[in-house]
Amino acid sequence: MAQKIDGKAVSAQIKDELKEKVRELKAAGKEITLAVIQVGEDPASTVYVNNKKKACEYVGIRSLAYELPEDTPEAELLALIEELNARKDVNGILVQLPLPPQIDENKVIKSISPVKDVDGFHPWNVGALCIGEPGFLPCTPAGIIQLLKRSGIAIEGRECVVVGRSNIVGKPMSILLLRENGTVTVAHSRTKDLKAVTKRADILVVAVGKPRMITRDYVKEGAAVIDVGVHRMENNKLCGDVDYEDVEPVCGAITPVPGGVGPMTIAMLMHNCVESLHLQEN
Ligand code: NDP
Repeated sequence: MAQKIDGKAVSAQIKDELKEKVRELKAAGKEITLAVIQVGEDPASTVYVNNKKKACEYVGIRSLAYELPEDTPEAELLALIEELNARKDVNGILVQLPLPPQIDENKVIKSISPVKDVDGFHPWNVGALCIGEPGFLPCTPAGIIQLLKRSGIAIEGRECVVVGRSNIVGKPMSILLLRENGTVTVAHSRTKDLKAVTKRADILVVAVGKPRMITRDYVKEGAAVIDVGVHRMENNKLCGDVDYEDVEPVCGAITPVPGGVGPMTIAMLMHNCVESLHLQEN
């Protein structure tokens, strides 16, 4: 039976460590504040934002909620970000994506001060990640590295295949695995003979956004399989990009959905909020 990689347990461990750090910081007179902006009322975004607020409360981070109407003009959002950038008492700024069509997502990402960009999406942080300088790491891929390390799965020298090359998951994931001395291949929609590529993987990270696409014929026996996908099915249950029931008997370790990568993303957001103090001091 495959090792179940327990993101819920690992994320709880990380949040407890952060809670202790935040307590020490408070004792030294330092408080951390995260501003969370949501535009519109997309139900999935509301769930994510509420989970982020809950995590802040647990760890001891102050959260400021900005709930803007769906028809908010871009200039208004940019003005709010500018105000938050200037506020000394705000350490992190998070704009929940996706945004309504009248707002240019890239413009918004670039308007956030890089030292407050706790999502790690600003080009400055992306560049820092690429050349190994201090900066915010994007939460989902950083969470996956923690999940592997804390579950005893070695990365160094191993074949790592990432399926998906998005700016928020696939690309940064490949760079982080490279940083950990993995031998990395990135596959995407134009990859020829995907199964042959994924079958090479000792560590297979799947972020394709296609429910249960990865079946056992994509997986090498004994591989560690990390499923980033999240999809709500017709029966209202969640599933991933990996067909868990089919793959579990042949792989060595696997993340469930829910309870795998998802909780790690929020734990790493909390980590970045604590980290922001260091970046803002320098
Ligand atoms: P995107 O849609 O931005 O990217 C999907 C990637 O998969 C693209 O690079 C695309 O290739 C590639 N792809 C699509 N179809 C195929 C195929 N048939 N074969 C090979 N590659 C393919 O998705 P995201 O990276 O944003 O998200 C991926 C999944 O992860 C989603 O289900 C999302 O909901 C989930 N997610 C979960 C998070 C969490 O915290 N658990 C956080 C973020 C995302 P190409 O570039 O060529 O088009």
